[in-house]
Amino acid sequence: AAHPVSVFGLGMMGSALAAALLKAGHPTTVWNRTVAKTGPLVAQGATPAETPAAGVAASPLVIACLTTNDNVRELFAPLAAELRGRTLVNLTNGTPSQARELAAWAQEHGIAYIDGGIMAVPQMIAGPGAYILYSGDEAAYATHRETLAALADTKWVGTDAGLAALWDLALLTGMYGMGIGVAQAYALIGSAGVPAKDFAPLLTDWVIAMTQGIVPGTAEAIDSGQHLTDVSSLEVNQAAVPNLATTFAEHGVRDLLFGAMQPLLDRAVAEGYGADGLSRLVDLLKTP
Ligand code: NDP
Repeated sequence: AAHPVSVFGLGMMGSALAAALLKAGHPTTVWNRTVAKTGPLVAQGATPAETPAAGVAASPLVIACLTTNDNVRELFAPLAAELRGRTLVNLTNGTPSQARELAAWAQEHGIAYIDGGIMAVPQMIAGPGAYILYSGDEAAYATHRETLAALADTKWVGTDAGLAALWDLALLTGMYGMGIGVAQAYALIGSAGVPAKDFAPLLTDWVIAMTQGIVPGTAEAIDSGQHLTDVSSLEVNQAAVPNLATTFAEHGVRDLLFGAMQPLLDRAVAEGYGADGLSRLVDLLKTP
């Protein structure tokens, strides 16, 4: 069935979201601060909103995808009365506490609030592998889930509005950690003149193989509380990591990882966890 939706923010992501809704046959109203960006969406069948208030009034479901949650607050604060009785789905990247603040503001004004975390790039929207994490008002989510499914697969993570951002940021943590590791690896191998393309297949296969072992293995250790390893002990890693830090220094490559990791490894071994695997570090990362 076709359900009217309004999309606020037609950047790279918002434009992809609006296009997916149009493709799924939902009457879509669009608003963007820079009016020119509405052109391509209107060409695809969207209705441009003359004002933000008119954009809200057009649909029971309002989706926002702006740069920051400050932008979201500024844009919608004067529109609380128009939003009353409607659902605001905020797909802007932010923190759990920002999401909770927006949810509290929404509740005060009788607005159903759902926060979302998009686990996709714009090109993946409405395609395989893309999903969006949602949290907040569960009844509103049940009402609009099918419409939202036009954007990407849906994954509900709980009624605490901050949870989608938390899951999102935890996933991004893994991504950025890998990305920084990959950047460091290319910088190091490049310091010896090895072309990146010669190294890329090895690095890809290595990261995939290690991911498949480390990610589920760490989960099993955390959930069972059993960190003893027959794979690679903290003691062995404590001895190996200085080789990395030293080589980066000798090759004139900055080290963002191993200098920060060393004190944690030293502490783990000093506290008697030398025979445990890297999963033990999860506990030691908690600040007192
Ligand atoms: P863009 O820079 O392409 O678009 C930003 C959008 O925010 C534009 O529509 C811009 O309007 C609008 N905006 C910024 N400030 C204001 C303001 N003060 N008032 C009104 N509108 C404003 O970014 P993306 O589309 O890539 O990203 C949007 C959100 O989606 C971000 O939070 C991002 O983290 C998240 N996201 C993006 C992904 C991606 O791969 N691109 C992946 C997952 C999440 P204007 O056109 O007028 O500048």
